[in-house]
Amino acid sequence: MKFSTLVLVLLAAVAGASFVLPPFWVTLGAYVGMNAIVAMGLVLLTGVCGITSFGQAAFVGVGAYVAAVLSVQLGLSPWIGLLAVIGAALVSGIVLGWMTVRLSGFYVPLGTIAWAVALIGVAGNIQYLGGHTGMSGIPALRIGSLVLEDSRKMLILIWVFAAAAIVLTQNLLHSRPGRAFRTLHGRTVMAESMGIDTAGYKLVAFVYAAVLAAIAGWLYAHFQHFINPTPFGLNKGIEYLFMTVLGGAGSVWGAVIGALGIPLLVNFLQDVVPALVGVSGAWETVIFGLLVILFMWWAPGGVWSLIDRFLPAARQPLRPPRSAVSAKAYAPRAIAKSDAYALEVKSARKVFGGLVAVNDVSFHVQQGEIVALIGPNGAGKSTMFDLITGVQPMTAGEVYLSGERMDGRAAREIAKRGVARTFQHVKLLDDRSVLENVMLGAHLKSRSGPLRSALGLNRMEEAALAQTAEVYLAECGLAKLADSAAGSLALGQQRIVELARALALDPSLLLLDEPAAGLRLHEKMALKDLVLTLRARGVSVLLVEHDMDFVMGLADRIVVMEYGTKIAEGTPAEIQSDPRVIQAYLGDAA
Ligand code: ADP
Ligand code: MG
Repeated sequence: MKFSTLVLVLLAAVAGASFVLPPFWVTLGAYVGMNAIVAMGLVLLTGVCGITSFGQAAFVGVGAYVAAVLSVQLGLSPWIGLLAVIGAALVSGIVLGWMTVRLSGFYVPLGTIAWAVALIGVAGNIQYLGGHTGMSGIPALRIGSLVLEDSRKMLILIWVFAAAAIVLTQNLLHSRPGRAFRTLHGRTVMAESMGIDTAGYKLVAFVYAAVLAAIAGWLYAHFQHFINPTPFGLNKGIEYLFMTVLGGAGSVWGAVIGALGIPLLVNFLQDVVPALVGVSGAWETVIFGLLVILFMWWAPGGVWSLIDRFLPAARQPLRPPRSAVSAKAYAPRAIAKSDAYALEVKSARKVFGGLVAVNDVSFHVQQGEIVALIGPNGAGKSTMFDLITGVQPMTAGEVYLSGERMDGRAAREIAKRGVARTFQHVKLLDDRSVLENVMLGAHLKSRSGPLRSALGLNRMEEAALAQTAEVYLAECGLAKLADSAAGSLALGQQRIVELARALALDPSLLLLDEPAAGLRLHEKMALKDLVLTLRARGVSVLLVEHDMDFVMGLADRIVVMEYGTKIAEGTPAEIQSDPRVIQAYLGDAA
């Protein structure tokens, strides 16, 4: 069944059930719907981006309070209230998000706890907002002449919003921004090298989650007709996180299951535990905590990970939904002939503490030239790559691309100039398909932002990106593996996926860090042919490689480094007969 059909079926089921369910279940259903809206934000923020937020309940509070103030104190229409709620969530999400995503490691969740506590403290202390007693008399929503006074009607409206949140989130996860979001969890260096603005995407995820939470708050206010600070506190924030994580972080259906399961479990324990062990002491809370821990042991991937193994065909996690639209691959850039060096490094220096990893090294790569950078382990070759691509700042020295000075610029600015690289230590999204990994390389070829993608207006672009990725995969001989999880490939093949991803950026300068490591002989030969084809197209190549046969047979020129210093430079024949190189590098072999 198509995803949107499934959502419609769910919505129809809720609508049908709203007529027959007893009042308790109608109320519960409404809460589940509101939970699901908040949880959708956390699917993106925590499940996919790996940014743990305990503070989503505070954004629900922002939405509920703005709704209450506008409708009760100012007498405005709740629908104007909705716009104001979205506006307030945008502003507070940007401000708090900007502060939070700048923190690192465990300071991020701590930061969310800090403002979660602060926001709710503020609400409790302002008399205009009703203090700790709260505000009542919040009017029912109206659609034309239809007044949604009755919980049953509100249940349907809440689920219309929930269904929309589910669809928007699912669209977003399978899109250009979606792939960028997936890099935020431990792959930011790679992402920036593909031209992705990781800080920007973190902020977008944060604001998206804030807006959804605030919309849930708006619904809550007009459902309850009364609010006070309690349901927007830290406890509730933790509960939202449990829903998302226990349901299956990163999956929208997991989060829907969590949005239902957690309240059911809490309710069940509240009924059963006091009957078993007496009413003194809040034993149900303790048991809830224990159950959560046991469950996380048993199923670290959440409920969804237990279910989805039974539906391989229905979900196709690895294959990005390929739309019926067919699109042409993006054409490669035309590389204009130029006499300027494709790359020129002048006196590059990099010091780590007391260690001089790169010691005043200068060299250049001409347009359409293949230059190899060789030297023993620890010579500073990979560090040199990091300096050229802007991954690490230089201590001193200059880097020029086609005559333009580039040192000091961010990695993604350098990527925009057509510089692509692979990594010595492969950096792929292991649990995404090979195709998606390569599509990531073509990030800069397209434009679709979060809004377009969430609304599903990116179909043509997605198709073109997929098509582009297929072209480069085929060129690298990996077409057959397009739908495999990248992490399931042999290491040598993973390197080739990295090469395909770098090609998808459509580089004019390509940097390959030990591309032949782990390849079999025929794979090395194919790699050599591919690099020669690229050179024929005018692409300039700088490669680090230990396989001397491979290097000598491929490179136009070789630069040799030892202990951070350049010790030789020349043609393969010159290098092979250079006594210093023989001693330093080929010593054992010679
Ligand atoms: P190569 O790629 O030639 O094997 P590297 O560039 O990886 O060498 O490393 C050069 C030297 O710099 C090594 O001694 C390494 O330990 C050190 N080094 C590399 N990266 C860092 C870092 N981020 N912090 C501290 N030392 C580093
Ligand atoms: Mg290295």
